Amino acid sequence: MTVERMCDDDAEPPGSSRTGFDLSYSSSASFLDSPASLPPLRIVSRTAARAPRLTISARSDAFRRRFFPDATRSDWNDWRWQVRNRIRSAVELARLIDLSAEEREAILRHTGPLPVGLTPYYASLIDPHDPLQGLRRTAVPVPDEYLRAPGEADDPLAEDDTSPVPGLVHRYPDRVLFLVTGLCSVYCRYCTRSRMVGAGGEYSLKKAQLERALDYIAATPCIRDVLISGGDPLSLDDERLDWLLARLRAIPHVEFVRIGTKNPVVLPQRIAPALVRVLRRYHPLWMSLHFTHPDELTPEVAEACGRLADAGIPLGSQTVLLRGVNDDVETMRRLMHGLLRIRVRPYYLYQCDPISGSAHFRTPVEKGLEIVRGLRGHTTGYAVPTYVIDAPGGGGKIPLTPDYVVGREGDDLLLRNYAGQVYRYHDPAVEG
Ligand code: SF4
Repeated sequence: MTVERMCDDDAEPPGSSRTGFDLSYSSSASFLDSPASLPPLRIVSRTAARAPRLTISARSDAFRRRFFPDATRSDWNDWRWQVRNRIRSAVELARLIDLSAEEREAILRHTGPLPVGLTPYYASLIDPHDPLQGLRRTAVPVPDEYLRAPGEADDPLAEDDTSPVPGLVHRYPDRVLFLVTGLCSVYCRYCTRSRMVGAGGEYSLKKAQLERALDYIAATPCIRDVLISGGDPLSLDDERLDWLLARLRAIPHVEFVRIGTKNPVVLPQRIAPALVRVLRRYHPLWMSLHFTHPDELTPEVAEACGRLADAGIPLGSQTVLLRGVNDDVETMRRLMHGLLRIRVRPYYLYQCDPISGSAHFRTPVEKGLEIVRGLRGHTTGYAVPTYVIDAPGGGGKIPLTPDYVVGREGDDLLLRNYAGQVYRYHDPAVEG
């Protein structure tokens, strides 16, 4: 059982250079003052402001003291410190966990997008001795990633085919997906956008590209809903998010904005009071969080979600069904119950998209239906996400439900309930 405690003030003197760095454009001017074309995101040293007082669980704090003894608790709670100190190589990872020969081989073989990347915080949740631990399987590559199974593709949802300008996917008439960055704090080994995330030095759209996408949205009145995603849009600093949200909310036909992010789960330190002050200015603002396993439901994450919920941001969770990670009713029930406890509504359960090298994660569709059957009626309706397949080729999300209608007898529908009992519902057939 973890023990919660608040981060004490550290002995570290304010302004110590070892605490400081910044994720920012390499221009000395602020983002708002920058010229149309901005240089790419990079990490630079800076003198950090003192990090906010945030919870650190006993487990993570013990991990910090063992593996990052020079990091103060203020460092640990500084999201920029977490990003700067991400674990990016086999050598770094082997310092923290007993890397299996397979894992080591897969990391050393890697080139291109979807590199290895874990925040120290998320690494503290990894079982150092069990390569089959669910969280570890989602974050540490294995050689199966290099196999391409039938039906797999680099862009199975054909997002690139429905992109009117770089960074925008416009598939459904009334909404767009705005991919503002390829940077993630943790790279999920089953990522639908594995073709682009982490590529090219972890890009973010330059200001001119953002302007072009904003122009498209402004010139397309049927767009009422913008989902900002990536990569992880909360990789952008507060100033850039403020600017982007203000520009979107200034477009009259954009009724609301959503942010799709995994940072509250893998980098809860990002949900600092300063960020929340920015976000709460742009209601209606919704957030889709990406949870995978109940091991992610830590005191830090609960606090981060509470802060967002207190700011009036409705929180939904999207979970990918993953073999050997969360593909049983009990694990999924614990996850869904835990989400409701931290004020996050389970939203979608996704069948794992057929991206290249993901077959080892994919379950039969029947497994997803079995999980929905194991939840629906057996627990609170709010705890039951909608199970969907995102249709390959760009057909959109298709919901899958167990078949509760078992037939018809005359004017009666025959319905099976959650316990397997059949009931009649009088439903006279409509005369044609
Ligand atoms: S956080 Fe999202 S975009 Fe980033 S690697 Fe994971 S699934 Fe992909």
